[in-house]
Amino acid sequence: PSGIDSTDESTPDTTFDDIGGLAEAKQQLRRAIEWPLTSPELFEATGIDPPSGVLLYGPPGTGKTMLARAVAATSDANFISVNGPEIMNRYVGESERAVRQIFDRARANAPAVVFFDEIDAIGAARTDDEASRTTERVVSQLLTELDGLRPRNGVTVIGATNRPARLDDALLRPGRFDRVVEVPMPDVDAREQIFRVHLDPDVAGRLDVRALAERTDGYTGSDVSAVVQEAGLLAIERALDARRPPTDGQAVRISSADFERALERIS
Ligand code: ATP
Repeated sequence: PSGIDSTDESTPDTTFDDIGGLAEAKQQLRRAIEWPLTSPELFEATGIDPPSGVLLYGPPGTGKTMLARAVAATSDANFISVNGPEIMNRYVGESERAVRQIFDRARANAPAVVFFDEIDAIGAARTDDEASRTTERVVSQLLTELDGLRPRNGVTVIGATNRPARLDDALLRPGRFDRVVEVPMPDVDAREQIFRVHLDPDVAGRLDVRALAERTDGYTGSDVSAVVQEAGLLAIERALDARRPPTDGQAVRISSADFERALERIS
C-alpha cells in the first residue's frame, strides 16, 4: 500500500557465477558490501569504516542490476529495489515520503541492500521551478538517510547510473556514495563468459563460443543474452516447421546456423 516499489524484500537467488566478466567490479562489491555485512567485527577490530554506499556506473545492459542482486545474495541480505524516475514521478511531497519509507523498510529488514536504479533521476537538473524544488527536497531527504546510516546498522545502498556526470555532487561526498565502481562494456573474454553463462553446456560444447565472442564486439551482456534467446527461438521455429513437434526437448538443437541468423537480427 505504501507504493514504494513492487519488489518484495527477499534475498535474491542471483550469484556472482551467473555474471560473466566484471571480475574487478565483483571484487570491489565484496570488499565494500559483503565483508562489512558478513564480518562487521573485523571492521570494528581494524577501525576501518566500510563505505555507506556504492555507485555502479556503466552503459545500459552491462550487469549493474545483476551485480547488486548477487552481492545481496552472497551477503545473505534482503534486497530492496527502487527506480529513480519512479520515485520522482509522484505527487508533491510523496517522493520524499517514499525515500523515508524505503529506508524504514530497509532498517526493519536488515541486513539489507537498497538498490537505486537510474539514481541520476534523483537530483538531475530540472527546468521548471516547481520540479527543481521537488528535486531539492528529495535529494535532501536522501542525504539525510545516507548520513543516518552511520554507525553501521546492516543497511547498505547501491546506486546505478548510465550517466554519472548528471549525478548531484552532494551524493558523492564521503559517507555517502563514496565508492564508485565502473561496470564496463564486456571485452572478448567477458563476452565468451557471458555466452557460456546463458548457454546450456551441451549446446556450448557443439558451438565455437570463442568465435561468437569475437564477432560480438560492441555487444553488451544484455545483447549477448538476446542473441542466445533468438538462436533458441530460431531452433524451436525450425523444429516446428519440420512438422515434428517435439514431444520432449530432443528434437530441438540450437545450431551454429541459428546463431548466424540470430547475429543478423541482433546487432
Ligand atoms: P540498465 O542500466 O539498463 O538497468 P543493467 O546494467 O542493470 O542495465 P542488467 O539488468 O543487470 O543490466 O542486465 C540485463 C540482462 O542482461 C540480465 O538479466 C542478463 O540476462 C544480461 N546480462 C547483462 N550483463 C551480463 C553479464 N555480465 N553476465 C551475464 N548476463 C548479463
